Amino acid sequence: MFIAVDDTDSREGMCTTFLATELIREFDDFDLLDYPRLVRLNPNVPWKTRGNGAIVITIGYGKRKNRKIGNLQGEVYIHEEDTEIPKKREFLERVKRKVEQWAELDNDNTNPGLIIADERPSERFYRKAVRDVVDFEMVQKELDRGSYLYKGYDDRRGLVGALSALAWRPGDFTYELLTYRKKDRWGKERELNEKDIINMDGALKKAFDNYDHEEKEQAIAPNSPCPVLYGVRGEDPDELKQALKMIDGEKPERWLIFLTNQATDDHIQEKKISEASPWTSAKIGGKVISEPRIIEGGHILFEMEDVTGKITAAAYEPTKGFREVVKKLISGDKIELWGGIRKDPKTLNIEKMRILGLEEKVEKVSNPECPDCGKRMSSMGTNAGYRCKRCRTKAKEKEAERKKIERGLEETCYEVPVSARRHLSKPLTRDNTCRSTSRRSS
Ligand SMILES: [Zn+2]
Repeated sequence: MFIAVDDTDSREGMCTTFLATELIREFDDFDLLDYPRLVRLNPNVPWKTRGNGAIVITIGYGKRKNRKIGNLQGEVYIHEEDTEIPKKREFLERVKRKVEQWAELDNDNTNPGLIIADERPSERFYRKAVRDVVDFEMVQKELDRGSYLYKGYDDRRGLVGALSALAWRPGDFTYELLTYRKKDRWGKERELNEKDIINMDGALKKAFDNYDHEEKEQAIAPNSPCPVLYGVRGEDPDELKQALKMIDGEKPERWLIFLTNQATDDHIQEKKISEASPWTSAKIGGKVISEPRIIEGGHILFEMEDVTGKITAAAYEPTKGFREVVKKLISGDKIELWGGIRKDPKTLNIEKMRILGLEEKVEKVSNPECPDCGKRMSSMGTNAGYRCKRCRTKAKEKEAERKKIERGLEETCYEVPVSARRHLSKPLTRDNTCRSTSRRSS
């Protein structure tokens, strides 16, 4: 039996993953049969709360403890399934009580949805919700058709996320170990030692995005007043547990490992410029057709085109040092960009960039020498060629002595720093298409 919940948090507090820990505790008369899942959905929808993540837990009767995945003031294990439990109406009451206890129901932007199901819906709900905008009608139709127990609050948008998370089949996936604070610490400053985080980042070989080496700042603890103390991301759930011993300071009250679609690029679709619609994310190949320009606020914009049209690409101020890379692009460079599409004006917000071909950049060193008398010739104006003042011999513009300018760029992949990365963005360290040529900056 699956329990899916979405949209219980707000910018001011709470975290839907904390609710997962509460639900596991609530249903301790059953066994956990799978990792709890944290499923991130389209980061570009305008009404998202914080990280646009929904959670799913799977319970039933197990026969044997398989592996330890958490401690919620009591050890949490995944069990091998023995028998299923069919959903019952009383379970809905139990989940509702927990949601109503913890969700930020007063917040206008928080619209929780919860679903209890015996089966997963079609994967198309997930694919649509991670890449695009899901029509509520489509979700309502499925809820009416299937044998779900469900409850939506306020505008019921949380039902879209809950159903879509339930529909996720992990193709590519990662894990996140999340730790939570004692309730009396919520909203207070987190006491973590940056050195521990740097050491942990170096020691855990399959973990990623835990420390921002470019901005020199930790990336595991949120800045919001939510119950999360820190979260460590990686590919090996057993290795992640080592972080608990390596990070000193404030002691978590509970911890739990989630299976997630974070760092998978599941939100990205390859598109032509004319097909890239607002509120989706795309990977687009094309040619740079304008010099990058800096606008107020420190954002960098340039234009790119493919055979179907052109689009503005942007590296916003929070992408920090990545902007220095973007600034070096020139007209004629061939690139691929990954990013979210904004509406009005249609802009691609760059998450990652691959340089496929660098245009040669040259600079004039000096005017040509006269082929007849050897004197340095004079310019006749911009692009108008040269003339020798002594013997009146003329020379074309291209005769001037030029030298190639070092571009300071390579034909490889570049990405925004950890601090500016989307939950769904696949970092270069785990991207096979870029791995061969990219270097991890540190
Ligand atoms: Zn001459």
